[in-house]
Order: sequence, then C-alpha cells, then structure tokens
Amino acid sequence: MRVVKLAKKDLAQAAKKLQAAYKVFAPVKERDFHNFRLLGEGKEPDFDFANTRLSAKHIVYPQSEKMMRASLDPSQEEHHIYKEEEKDYSPRAILGIRPCDAKAYDLVRLNFDTPEYKDPYWTKSYEALTRVGLACTSPCSTCFCTTAGTGPHDESGLDIMLVEEGESLFAKIITEKGEALAQKAGWSAEAPEDAASILEKAKQAAEGAVTAKIETDKITQKKTVEIYDSNIWDDLAFACINCGTCTYLCPTCWCFDIQDEVVNKQTIRIKSWDSCMFPLFTIHGTGHNPRPNKVSRVRQRFLHKLKYYPEKYGIGIHCVGCGRCITQCPVNIDIRRAAKVMNEFEPVEACKV
Ligand code: SF4
Ligand code: SF4
Repeated sequence: MRVVKLAKKDLAQAAKKLQAAYKVFAPVKERDFHNFRLLGEGKEPDFDFANTRLSAKHIVYPQSEKMMRASLDPSQEEHHIYKEEEKDYSPRAILGIRPCDAKAYDLVRLNFDTPEYKDPYWTKSYEALTRVGLACTSPCSTCFCTTAGTGPHDESGLDIMLVEEGESLFAKIITEKGEALAQKAGWSAEAPEDAASILEKAKQAAEGAVTAKIETDKITQKKTVEIYDSNIWDDLAFACINCGTCTYLCPTCWCFDIQDEVVNKQTIRIKSWDSCMFPLFTIHGTGHNPRPNKVSRVRQRFLHKLKYYPEKYGIGIHCVGCGRCITQCPVNIDIRRAAKVMNEFEPVEACKV
C-alpha cells in the first residue's frame, strides 16, 4: 500500500478528470442534503457533507432494474422467449463514500454472490465499481459504526481511502483497482515520511468521536424460539407505521421483488427493491400471509439484522451503524434500543404450582 498527498481543493477537479475513464458517482447537494449521483449534466460534486441521505447501494443495485424482455407478438421471430437486457457494465467509480457504506457492499455480497447462486446483475455492477472512501472526521451523534463491526477509518471495503488533514488529503491506495484509478487521476505526489503517524492520529481521533453504540454481544446466545415468542416485540413495534423507510435507505437491506410488466406487446421482467416491512412482501399465492401484522414484520427486521444474519454468517450484525434508520424513521424507532432490549431479554420462567 502506498500513500500519496493531494490538495483537498483538487478533488472536484479529479472527479471531472476521471469521467474520461469511469462513470463517476459522488455526493451532490440536493436542497438540504446530499446523495450520490452520476456526475455530468449539471451534477457537480460537493464533498462538504456528513453522509448522504440515501445510501450508495443503488449504484450496484438499482431501485428498479429491467432484467430481461420477450416479445408477445406471434408474428415476431422468437416470440415468448426472454432475452437478457443489454446493460452497461463499463468501469464506474464512487468518490467520497463513507467507510461504513463501502463495507455494506461486502455484507450484501453474501446474498448476491455465493458459490451456489450468483445474481449476475449485482455481481457485474459490483465488479465494475472502484470504491474511493472518505474517512469521517466528525461522526454524527447517531453513528455507531465502531460497535457495528466497522469504523470511521475502516479500509476493508475500499480500493482507496482518502483522509483529510487540514487543506490536504492523504490517499491510501489499497488495491490494484485503486492503483489504476490513482494513476488516471494523476495522484502521484508521495506523502511525507510522517504520513503513517498523521493517519494513525486522525484514525484514533475519529474513532474516539463515535460515542453512540449498539449492544448485541448476547443476542446470538438467546434461544430463537424464546425471543421470537416473547412480548418484547409489542412495545418495539408499537409506533411503527410500516412505511419501509428504514429498509429503503439502509445500505445493507437487500430484499427485492420480481414482476413481469406487459407494455406494447412486450413483457419486461423487472427487479425492484422490496421491504420486509410491507404486508405484501410475504403474502403467498394462496392468500396466506405468514407475517400478517406489523409486530411480525418489525420482529423480522430486527431478528434478521441482529440474530439470524450473525448466526448464519458469523461475521457480526447485518448493520454497519450508519444511523440512517434512526434519523429518518418518522416515529423514532431506534435499532440501538431494539438491540438493547434483545440483548437483555430473559425468558419468563413458567409458574411452578
Ligand atoms: S422507518 Fe420507522 S415507521 Fe417506517 S417501517 Fe421503519 S421502523 Fe417502521
Ligand atoms: S440498520 Fe440502520 S444503522 Fe444499520 S446499516 Fe441499516 S440504516 Fe444504517
């Protein structure tokens, strides 16, 4: 790994330069908040942000995506035979992604890229992406990344990590993909010899600034049937309106639905984000719904993120601590509180008579 130094003010210019070789996504200011957008056509990057309102998952996993189509016109050759949609998997780069959001791609990868099953749409987009992170200097009060298996300087999901230091940026080039991007951006000025200690100090300061936390250490020890059947869920779900906001903006939520839409004698198969918080998500063809009420849906969300996923994969919780679901839930449901209640849960002993 090598470290180069660049001027902070030159980052926006580098983003422009990179557009010759990549589709470049960066934070763009939209009214009072930022979101990752494809640069060009009037979209200018603005790196003066805490984090984006929506996560960056849509860059690999669009909210709605055409998968394949077939003609329904019998006069056409090969009618009623689905053909894959042509797609652009040319190199793309994301600049300024926060380390927690970058790490989230690798959590989601466990669902879309496995030895038994590969989602070609997700994997090709993921492989085309180079991730240039921007380490956090001032984490928000709702960020709890350091207790969610990541951190403000976590490099594990990144090809390059940018770290701010005054008016400069240190770029840690981590992977070959990162090296290729650094060369195209012209980032070559070697950092001074004391770069390692400057970066370590910045890391410790940023980690120390994360004061929020999530408590999950005892959840996998609970018996699933006991915590599932307990009455903790009535209270945790009480205010929920099943709007789905928490799942749509979460960088680690991956649920989707596939539907066929018929337009002009063509049928188009479309994959769209779905949410375990929606009543129709689990409804069967028979009309039976195994999660018929909001309590069962809220229970599913928290058990999946904090118990089922950790038990299945053994790599920690299905959450990177970005805090979006806390700040944007309209009724203030807080995953940290849910985790604490689950962590402290004890089954009620049966009466002995
Ligand atoms: S954002 Fe809040 S109210 Fe909406 S589904 Fe999620 S927990 Fe429920
Ligand atoms: S569950 Fe909430 S805090 Fe965790 S990654 Fe998703 S949106 Fe962020």
